[in-house]
Amino acid sequence: MNKQIKQTDLEMIQGDITKAQVDAIVNAANSELIGGGGVDGAIRRAGGDAIEGACAEIRRREGGCPTGKAVITPGGNLHAKYVIHTVGPVWEGGNSGEAELLASCYKESLRLAVENNIQSIAFPSISTGIYGYPTEQAAVVALTAVKELVLQSNTVPATIQFILFDEATHACYVDALLTVF
Ligand code: ADP
Repeated sequence: MNKQIKQTDLEMIQGDITKAQVDAIVNAANSELIGGGGVDGAIRRAGGDAIEGACAEIRRREGGCPTGKAVITPGGNLHAKYVIHTVGPVWEGGNSGEAELLASCYKESLRLAVENNIQSIAFPSISTGIYGYPTEQAAVVALTAVKELVLQSNTVPATIQFILFDEATHACYVDALLTVF
């Protein structure tokens, strides 16, 4: 399902983000920027050593990436030229600032995309795997954050995709699209 916000196409797709034909894909990373499971493991396997090399450099320089922030590396062997690594919050019941931190992940990633002249970007469902964020709620937070940033900014990518791995997650994002717009 697609939606247009200003000049941006917002697309909900079920699939594997490592195959995305976009300028940048977003990784649900951990704050140490050390290879994990889930989407992080899949992206690192598909992208190869260039991603870990750049993450190691960021670890040396900045010590990692705080929750709610984002950093950028090359995409290595991926079709995507860049990977934007953002660190979602671990779900602790909802009263520990999780929604603000999750919204920040999407906004910081889009800001980095604009800074790097990225025209098309794909997001996974950040925090809803190992980090345990309830998917229905995460989808509303994600789409609200993207909508706010697109409406506030003069420059935004022309294409923003959400690539959701499983059918249930995809269905949550399609529902959220109808709620938020
Ligand atoms: P987190 O630690 O932020 O919860 P996970 O990687 O555990 O991150 O899960 C985030 C989401 O990414 C989950 O919905 C999971 O099913 C999904 N996912 C896993 N592999 C892929 C993939 N190759 N492409 C897109 N999404 C994926």
